[in-house]
Amino acid sequence: MSRPAKLIIDLSALRHNVTIAKNCCALGGLVAVLKANAYGHGAIEVAFAIEDQVNMFAVSSIEEAEQLRDAGIQKPILLLEGCFNAVELKICQARDFAVVVHCDKQLSELESITLSTPLSVWLKVDSGMHRLGMNAKEAKSAYQRLTASQNVVGEPILMTHMASSDLLEQNYTVQQLDVFNRLSQELKSTGLAKTMKTSIGNSGSILGWPEASSDWARPGIMLYGLSPFTAPHAIADKLKPVMTLKSEVIAVREIAAGERVGYGSTWQASRRSVIATVAIGYGDGYPRNAKSGTPVLVNGNTAYLAGRVSMDMLSIDVTDIAPVSIGDEVTLWGQGLNANLVAEWADTIGYELVTRMPLRVAKTYLSQVFERR
Ligand SMILES: *Cc1c(COP(=O)(O)O)cnc(C)c1O
Repeated sequence: MSRPAKLIIDLSALRHNVTIAKNCCALGGLVAVLKANAYGHGAIEVAFAIEDQVNMFAVSSIEEAEQLRDAGIQKPILLLEGCFNAVELKICQARDFAVVVHCDKQLSELESITLSTPLSVWLKVDSGMHRLGMNAKEAKSAYQRLTASQNVVGEPILMTHMASSDLLEQNYTVQQLDVFNRLSQELKSTGLAKTMKTSIGNSGSILGWPEASSDWARPGIMLYGLSPFTAPHAIADKLKPVMTLKSEVIAVREIAAGERVGYGSTWQASRRSVIATVAIGYGDGYPRNAKSGTPVLVNGNTAYLAGRVSMDMLSIDVTDIAPVSIGDEVTLWGQGLNANLVAEWADTIGYELVTRMPLRVAKTYLSQVFERR
């Protein structure tokens, strides 16, 4: 038997989630965010599975974009951080990548290069997150310069990113929208913008802030079936998890009350206990800081992490769900056990758990609805 730790990627769940995103953005197009290897799900497989459902893809680097083109993806691809140097602009022209311009350096490089065909450009506005983008004043002149540049197709698309769209009770999103909408109105009323297309929504905005609707939504995490919210949410709760992390029990033992389990002997049995050892650890992307008590499914029943996670293994208390045997299937997160819940026990978010899966854990794709060309 080969090592049982594996990732199951359910492409029909992915397509279901894209449909939910589409329904939320009926008036605009969808840019599916595939950065970081599609949040750990495999960018090429994900892109092929949903290419017919979305308008465009977005990634963080030219390497990620080229990987998709090399594989045969034909839809437009947007570089969310733009080009890191002028050489990349030539590649964007050759391979039909759209670029974000978020700073003056990128703007000048784009203006001064000689391109045989113009690029689609997205102008990033800093409406309050203060990570990337130009403030309203800079953006006004940049919009004008980009519109005038021979290297730009038509007018740029005006985009921004929300800092707190997952916090539905906060009004920071409203403040950001206000900054952004005032700028876009001004560009229109002064005649600087004739067409004015906008892009705002990440998953939190798409699901939680209908007033943030725009011409191009940019969903990421929701496509992978994880809610951006911690509280229940009517639409987000209909998403289906795409990634399921599984392994198997490789040892079972009984220990007496008072005995301890794992490195550092941090977990102590309060009663006579049955402990199962599972072939998965932090070397497989399971978070080492998951606390004792983190839920784990064994044959569909809930057991609990007992003691520290090792590199290749972890221990679980299965006393209440015995009998458990070698070879029994264990689900660490995914179908039946939400990754966001496991993430909470490890002081992180579902985004991080799925994205940082190492290549060591092989992926199996279910319902390969659309075969790779
Ligand atoms: C990652 C990213 C998104 C997607 O965000 P989610 O919260 O995963 O939906 C959208 N826009 C930009 C600019 C991003 O960097």
